[in-house]
Amino acid sequence: AHNTHNAKLVLLGDMGAGKSSLVLRFVKGQFHEFQESTIGAAFFSQTLAVNDATVKFEIWDTAGQERYHSLAPMYYRGAAAAIIVYDITNAESYARAKKWVQELQKQGNPNMVMALAGNKTDLEDKRKVTTEEARAYAGENGLFFIETSAKTSVNVNDIFYEIAKRLPRA
Ligand code: GDP
Ligand code: MG
Repeated sequence: AHNTHNAKLVLLGDMGAGKSSLVLRFVKGQFHEFQESTIGAAFFSQTLAVNDATVKFEIWDTAGQERYHSLAPMYYRGAAAAIIVYDITNAESYARAKKWVQELQKQGNPNMVMALAGNKTDLEDKRKVTTEEARAYAGENGLFFIETSAKTSVNVNDIFYEIAKRLPRA
């Protein structure tokens, strides 16, 4: 039988890491060099067929700024999945991503599928965070790890596909 499952998904991470760009690439197949910063949060939905099921992602793209931090639980509470995004050219954004992981481990849904996404791999010459380091961290913390480029679209659909495969079957 062909089943459709709804899955609430939240994107968290530093401002500028590329959360909105990843969503825009996944939902509309577009990329904007001058992506507007998100105010509060933005909502999108997109379906994805995985094996014999369809997952309808209900995506909350959060702002990332510290001043919106207190709103974050509204978006990750009850979420089936989270993508924590950092920019591979920005060590601070990686440190911030680890803080989000800790917060989700403490306050999030214990069954949440979590992905760590190192974005902007097209900027390899400016890389500050090694693949090995982030992969090891993700492994130790039970996260799915992937490096992406919203600009070139490398691995963008794959994040959502891998998450969909890991969601518990309703
Ligand atoms: P957010 O604050 O996390 O939502 O980040 P945005 O999606 O607004 O992106 C911040 C900036 O980084 C924008 O200027 C984007 O065009 C740029 N950007 C996002 N993803 C990529 C990427 O994969 N490669 C490059 N080169 N730039 C990116
Ligand atoms: Mg944004």
